[in-house]
Amino acid sequence: MKLDNKTAIITGGASGIGLESAKLFISEGANVIIADLNESDGKPAAEALGSRCRFVKTDVSDKSSAYFCVMEALKRFGSLEILVNNAGITSDASLHKMSSEQFEKVIDVNLKGVFFMTKYAAAQMAENNYGRIINTSSIVGLYGNFGQTNYAASKSGVIGMTKTWARELGRKGITVNAVAPGFIDTGMLNTVPANILDNIKQRTPLGRLGSPADIAKAYLFLASDDAAFITGITLSVDGGLVW
Ligand code: NAP
Repeated sequence: MKLDNKTAIITGGASGIGLESAKLFISEGANVIIADLNESDGKPAAEALGSRCRFVKTDVSDKSSAYFCVMEALKRFGSLEILVNNAGITSDASLHKMSSEQFEKVIDVNLKGVFFMTKYAAAQMAENNYGRIINTSSIVGLYGNFGQTNYAASKSGVIGMTKTWARELGRKGITVNAVAPGFIDTGMLNTVPANILDNIKQRTPLGRLGSPADIAKAYLFLASDDAAFITGITLSVDGGLVW
């Protein structure tokens, strides 16, 4: 068991990569808070995972909601060792069509949300001189992508925050790393046309889309003591795709 006696908050844990990670973390002995806006999926998912899993309705882009989530983790499980900042959204449009509302909405969830959750979680972790923070970037944060000004800005920003927090929090026993998934088979790809997905598969050396489990295993590695001397990195999990 790689996460025995550890408590993890997984944001965006109601579906896709986050839900797969909640299952994996629980199977490795962790207590898990699924922190998600989506109560209709998140609550039954947490109930199905048993008494070591709880759903806490959370809007990561709202600082009081983020604070409440961290306090709930402490109240329900007594400590907090791991934060996976996995919640993320897209709202695509090319530069000349993208509204400022569209830009701000994605920045609010994907960038400010990571800031709020980490600010409150890291304060708790620092008291115990132990923590693992994993941020979700994207292949798009490394290379950019047509129609994704807002998303690319948020996911590149996550890498900058990861490197900064690795420096600030290392002496407190807290590691901070990012995972940059390639194209992963979740609801987030529902709006991507089939011919584009085929093209992505063809350009990927491993010849397929990623699965949520591919990313969950990378989160697990970085959350575990196997990664005790790793901080500030961005781990690409993308089948070798150069975008
Ligand atoms: P997903 O299936 O859409 O899951 C995202 C979850 O986050 C959803 O349950 C969503 O709730 C929730 N969420 C949205 N806004 C939130 C908020 N303000 N506060 C809390 N939760 C919120 O997406 P996924 O594919 O698993 O993505 C997980 C992460 O991986 C994201 O950060 C994404 O950017 C990143 N990523 C994904 C891919 C990919 O190809 N799938 C590639 C690179 C990076 P609703 O259902 O209500 O929206």
